[in-house]
Amino acid sequence: MKAVCWFGKRDMRVEHVPDPRILNPRDCIVRITRSAICGSDLHLYNGYIPTMEQGDIVGHEFMGEVVEVGSEVKKLTVGDHVVVPFTICCGRCFFCKQGMWSACDNTNPNAWMVEAQYGTSAAALFGYSHLYGGYAGGQAQYARVPFADVGPIKVPQGIDDEKVLFLSDIFPTGYQAAEQCDIKRGQVVAVWGCGPVGQFAIRSAQMLGAERVIGIDRFPERLQLAEKSGAEVVNYDQTEDLIETLKAMTGGRGPDACIDAVGLEAHGHSVDYYLDSAKQKVHLQLERANVLRQAIHACRKGGTVSVPGVYAGSIDNFPFGAAFGKGLTIRGGQTHMIRYMQPLLERVQNGDIDPSFLITHRVALEDVPEMYKTFVNKDDHCVKVVIDPWAQKAA
Ligand code: NAD
Ligand code: ZN
Repeated sequence: MKAVCWFGKRDMRVEHVPDPRILNPRDCIVRITRSAICGSDLHLYNGYIPTMEQGDIVGHEFMGEVVEVGSEVKKLTVGDHVVVPFTICCGRCFFCKQGMWSACDNTNPNAWMVEAQYGTSAAALFGYSHLYGGYAGGQAQYARVPFADVGPIKVPQGIDDEKVLFLSDIFPTGYQAAEQCDIKRGQVVAVWGCGPVGQFAIRSAQMLGAERVIGIDRFPERLQLAEKSGAEVVNYDQTEDLIETLKAMTGGRGPDACIDAVGLEAHGHSVDYYLDSAKQKVHLQLERANVLRQAIHACRKGGTVSVPGVYAGSIDNFPFGAAFGKGLTIRGGQTHMIRYMQPLLERVQNGDIDPSFLITHRVALEDVPEMYKTFVNKDDHCVKVVIDPWAQKAA
């Protein structure tokens, strides 16, 4: 089959690789009908995630048709149409049983690598380094899906792939980010980053009853997309002091909840941004955390800072005193996907939301290496790239 493989920093290639096979009786094989590039894939592309090896198949947002099932798979049969979550969960451990799916104890065969850093490992991920299990990803024509009865959800015939594909990651991720804010009537939620995750966080905050949502970014097309949903927007590049601007917009108090949908590759102009960038260059620190610091400083007393954006190391100058002094609640983490997929599928079916609003580019596998470049630079008004692994390369 054909698959997109990582070969080094800013080096993705389409390769011919062996088809995946059933390795375990609880596996199934999916013939992928649609896949996507995620903002998280950019951390691999930019070389921030350790333990990638040349030839690793990337991609963790995919769906398709079940073409083979292992002998112990009970819920799925050949021919089923499924969306596959980016986390791999066993369904039987302490954490899975309590619905803390992304904390699954059993699916990462390389748990020892994460334990060395964090003391404990969480769920394995598709196509996301050996640290997270070394599983082949879904920017490919087929994928092996372990624990096939646990993660994938069946989607009914007749529903367009593009409407349900994002149940594999970014829609539940944006939703969890908003749900973590425990939004009450009349509240104001500010969302840093109007990329795919931010867009779903904005719409989810609205669905969960926020009175006002403020989207923050610097790319006009992304701000426009946020505005289209009814959000107010701030271009941080054209604002003297973002925290003061947010205060002025919220009666001097600050937003009730602040969502960091940017993560470790934040852009900025502040002193802490330049310090983080310098440390990043000499490998003294993994992340640029200026957005997270800003969210903590902007949030009103007693509010919530919700962090879907990815962080992986230790952060210098983390304003924990401010967070403590203001009595903030800080929540974050990988999304507990399985909690949200079915209810959000129902929202799509009810017509509450059509997630395909986000798609700006539709490409074949051969175009993917070039699209990484476009997506990382936000060229060509690129917001979200969807891949048809069976399409012919664009002429
Ligand atoms: P993206 O790169 O398309 O979007 C990030 C956006 O942040 C961009 O529009 C960028 O302009 C904006 N931004 C950069 N600096 C900013 C600043 N200082 N202030 C405001 N906005 C700023 O990525 P995405 O797909 O939307 O993903 C966003 C984050 O969510 C990434 O870190 C990704 O890894 C993470 N993520 C987490 C999970 C999870 O399970 N928690 C799942 C998917 C993605
Ligand atoms: Zn993702």
